[in-house]
This record gives sequence, C-alpha cells and structure tokens, in this order.
Amino acid sequence: MRKSLLISLCLCSFIVTSCSSKTKKQETKTPPQEVTQAQSPAKSDQGEVSKKETPTSKELEDLKITIKKAQAVTQKNEETVTPTVTIKPTEEAHHKYVPRPDSVPAEKALGWLKNGNTRFTKGFFRNDGAAKKDVSRLVKGQNPHSIILSCSDSRVPPEVVFDQKLGEVFVIRTAGESLDNAAIASIEYAVDHLGTQLIVVMGHSNCGAVQAALKTPVGGNAGSPYLTALVADLQPRMQSHLKSVHHSEHYLAESWDNTRGATKDLLEKSKIVRDAVKEGHLRIESALYHLDSGKVEWSQ
Ligand SMILES: [Zn+2]
Ligand SMILES: [Zn+2]
Repeated sequence: MRKSLLISLCLCSFIVTSCSSKTKKQETKTPPQEVTQAQSPAKSDQGEVSKKETPTSKELEDLKITIKKAQAVTQKNEETVTPTVTIKPTEEAHHKYVPRPDSVPAEKALGWLKNGNTRFTKGFFRNDGAAKKDVSRLVKGQNPHSIILSCSDSRVPPEVVFDQKLGEVFVIRTAGESLDNAAIASIEYAVDHLGTQLIVVMGHSNCGAVQAALKTPVGGNAGSPYLTALVADLQPRMQSHLKSVHHSEHYLAESWDNTRGATKDLLEKSKIVRDAVKEGHLRIESALYHLDSGKVEWSQ
C-alpha cells in the first residue's frame, strides 16, 4: 500500500503535465534521450541466462555468469502513511500508442522473469544491475520490461523473487492485489507512457488479505473504512468461496481466484489497459507465488 502511495505521489506531477497537455493535438512523449540503448536490460546478465529456462549451475558457469549468494535483504523502514490520496480517473481522452524502439517484447520479458525465479529458487543471483554506474545510467529515464502487481506481503518482493535489478520492473504492491485508483493509475502510467508490454498480476499462497476477505461478512466492517474497502474489492473475486466453511490447502484455490479476479478487474476498469491488450502491444499474465518453495506458478 505504501509503495503504491509513493508512486502515486510521484505521479501527481506527471498527471498535472499530462492533463495540461491534453488540449494539444500531439501528446508529448518521452524525450528521445530517455530512449537509449544503455537502459535496455537486454545488455544485462539476464539476457544471457534467458536463453534457457532452467539453467543448471554448470551451464551458468559455462556462460561465465558471475553468481553469488544473496545478500541479506535490506529491511525496509517502517513508517506510517495516511492513505488519503484519491486520484479521480480521467475520462477516455488522449490514448494514442506510439511504440518505443527499445521497448522489450512481452515474450522476452516473461522469459527473463521465469529465469529470474529459477535463479532465486536455486539460490544464485545476478550481481549486475545494482551498482553506482547503474544508478547513473538510469538518471535520464526508465524502460522497465515488466509491470508487476503483487501483494504487499513482506515475503513476496518481486525484485527479489524474480532477481530483477534497478530500472527493470515497475512494481505496484497492495494487500491482496487490491486495485484502488492509485494502483490502476500507476499501471496505466507504465503502459501508456513507458511503453511496458507485460503486466504480471501475482498473488501468493496463504495470503492474509485473501483470508481477511473470506472471514469478513459481505458488506461487513473490516476494522476501518480503508480495510473495509479493500476487503470489498477482493470479495467478488472469490465469490464461490465466500460461503464455504472450509478452505483449500494454503488457500491456493482462493488465492488463484483472487489473482485471476484482479486481472479481470484491471481489464474491466482500465480502458488504457484494455485498449493496449486489444491493439496487441500489451500482455497480461496471472501468477501465484508459493511461500514454501519460492516458486512462481503461471496461470497458463
Ligand atoms: Zn515516480
Ligand atoms: Zn498477501
């Protein structure tokens, strides 16, 4: 939730710019200097690794890919953010897709994520992509290959479980992949203005938000107006489970329904996302992260 809020705050300046330029015939796109080869993740180690889906340790060596053990995940500072930002969705308006020459095709991006999760489960990690030179390389702009909507659960950070580095994945995290205005706006920004071609909606086993939605009576109070709204967003996705007294092992069936429901909700709510899929320059995949194995299971 906090992350999506931060993004939404960043987006404020963008939205002001975007709205004010709406009257012009041509929309101001990303300046050309932002589209540089140097930002392309194709040059990173994962370009090599992506040739195979499940490389063995030996193959990794053969490919001369430097590997190292994971560093302890930096613990995030705990701070309280008041959830009061509301973005009023703008009407239809200005969508006109202009392809970026360096935009990563969805198929390729998906392969990188799958390979990254394989590295994660094997305990091998890339050591490129997060150095000072990468910080400098990315000052001019970003070209993330994937948009990932996942749960805020501290055990499911997409950058870690997919072994992705700076500038590579555009991440939106809310409890239970709840889709509030800020979450949808953040996704639309990445689709429409960054030209990212893959969205992954990722739930996980034993999701606490899923469990909360299941145990709160429909229309009932979940503890605060915000929690009630979140639970009410999730419940329709799990319609067939709401009246059931039993749940599946690790809440897998319920979490899958919630994740696929989030994908469906996103398509229904966002015209920008819907149009991009229809026009063939955006792909959406549903996935489920298993807390016990660290593996990401794909819907298809
Ligand atoms: Zn920003
Ligand atoms: Zn969760």
